Amino acid sequence: MASATPYKIFDAVLRHKKALSPHLMRVTLAGPMVTEMATRAPNQRVKLFFPAVEGSPARLAHGDGWYARYRSIPVAQRPAMRTYTIRHLRAEQGEVDIDFVLHGETGLASRWAIHAAAGEPIQIFAPDSQFSAQDAGGFEWKPPQQLKHLLMVTDATALPAALGILDELAALAVPPLIQAFFEVDSVDDALPVPDGPGLAVEWLIRDHATATGGCANT
Ligand SMILES: Cc1cc2nc3c(=O)[nH]c(=O)nc-3n(C[C@H](O)[C@H](O)[C@H](O)COP(=O)(O)OP(=O)(O)OC[C@H]3O[C@@H](n4cnc5c(N)ncnc54)[C@H](O)[C@@H]3O)c2cc1C
Repeated sequence: MASATPYKIFDAVLRHKKALSPHLMRVTLAGPMVTEMATRAPNQRVKLFFPAVEGSPARLAHGDGWYARYRSIPVAQRPAMRTYTIRHLRAEQGEVDIDFVLHGETGLASRWAIHAAAGEPIQIFAPDSQFSAQDAGGFEWKPPQQLKHLLMVTDATALPAALGILDELAALAVPPLIQAFFEVDSVDDALPVPDGPGLAVEWLIRDHATATGGCANT
């Protein structure tokens, strides 16, 4: 049945976690509702709801008007909302991958990704596949036709979006020339990038940043 709203709240649980590097953790969220999720761009943003300050997992009601209801919850019981990027969606399997930057225990989302165990519930505000509009928003990657040159500059939190964009461009018959600068915490946080003659990636290592830059990796 077609949906009237582009986004909705999905119930999911943490299925598994996989360390991609010392500071990047892939978290796979899953559940029957995720079969109805959509992603409309390689930088599709979503909202994740983490346990409230007092510790209980998010159990936001579904349906229209959720944000007003969310705002009416007392702060101590209100689930914390953070913005993340869909890295991969396997809707037919009811699974979605989110890559978390682990920046320590100070941020509750980072802390959740470090400590959460399989089966932990979470809610996701994400695109609804039943919504028919072409551009339902939630992403900024709208390249011109026949893109020829692309400059990318990101920190680690935008790496999921940037790598998704590189995957998309690598599949083109004639990919553009791309120069990318990715800032990460350590040398071991430099992730594999798609092969391609027109792609030059420079990993800027925060620990060791100097005037001469980081490590080139093409
Ligand atoms: C469109 C969009 C897409 C995003 N996609 C992703 C994504 O896919 N993966 C991802 O990991 N993040 C992503 N982010 C960033 C993420 O929303 C923030 O890093 C978020 O604030 C983390 O929440 P937290 O609860 O861990 O920390 P917060 O409670 O927000 O912050 C707590 C403390 O941690 C510090 N802090 C927060 N983030 C970082 C960081 N990255 N490095 C160092 N210190 C930090 C803050 O300055 C603060 O002092 C995205 C942001 C946007 C706007």
